[in-house]
Amino acid sequence: MPSSTIRHNLPCTKCGYDLEGLAATGICPECGTAIVDSLTARLDTETRQFDDMPNPHRVALTVLFGSACAFGGSGIVLALILEKLAESAEIPAIAVAAPVFRSAAFVANTIGFLAFLTVLPWRREPRFVRAKALGVSGFAAWLIASFVDEQSIATATYTAIPAMLVLFAIAPLLRALAPRSRAYRNARATAQRVEGLLLSTGIAGGTSATALLLRASPGSESAATLLTFLAVAAAGLTVIGLAYLSLNALWLVRASFQPLLTVEETFGKGGTTNAKSGR
Ligand SMILES: [Zn+2]
Repeated sequence: MPSSTIRHNLPCTKCGYDLEGLAATGICPECGTAIVDSLTARLDTETRQFDDMPNPHRVALTVLFGSACAFGGSGIVLALILEKLAESAEIPAIAVAAPVFRSAAFVANTIGFLAFLTVLPWRREPRFVRAKALGVSGFAAWLIASFVDEQSIATATYTAIPAMLVLFAIAPLLRALAPRSRAYRNARATAQRVEGLLLSTGIAGGTSATALLLRASPGSESAATLLTFLAVAAAGLTVIGLAYLSLNALWLVRASFQPLLTVEETFGKGGTTNAKSGR
């Protein structure tokens, strides 16, 4: 049974104070956080399980770029809503902001495309191949969507499809990070959030497409208007969800850059206090 003294550099998760030399059962002398909390964030208790996951920081960075760029890409939908509002309320001033959102979306989609192409490691594993294919094609389709603007609702519908492709690309990456959930504590919760986002994106796309079809047939204007409001609400939920996902991804990236510590490294083994190199 190794001693319960921390024998490796271990920054407190809350304040960063180095806990080396203190008892694992104690509290941080600087901020009072239980040392066990800092241990659960860093201690790798099942090293072998993680061997199939090299470059976790690149995977986490892809999730961050993917979600943040999807958030930026939804600028197309915001631009459409602003243009419609300016038109119907006859306030041309609102429309001034629309091109800004369109440009932001264009930049975000380009970065997202490049992130899935270059940041996500090239691996032969099916889930990584699928994630790369979906992410790259999703952002490419999104870029095309930013040039389609003759029929605004059609653009809204069309934007939902690339957004769903990108979300389908992000989901397996989050699941790949989930086995490290002691360190990436909210990876599983984040994966569930992707499923909710897929649903709201699907609803936004489906209702706007139905509204478009209804508008073509006479006498169903009110139903079309109702569906358009539903589409806007679902799109709004999606945008908020993407912002949350980006914040979670930021946390995942931060965690992925801190290498996990083995039990031997942390507590020493048979009086050995040498820290092993590597993970
Ligand atoms: Zn502390």
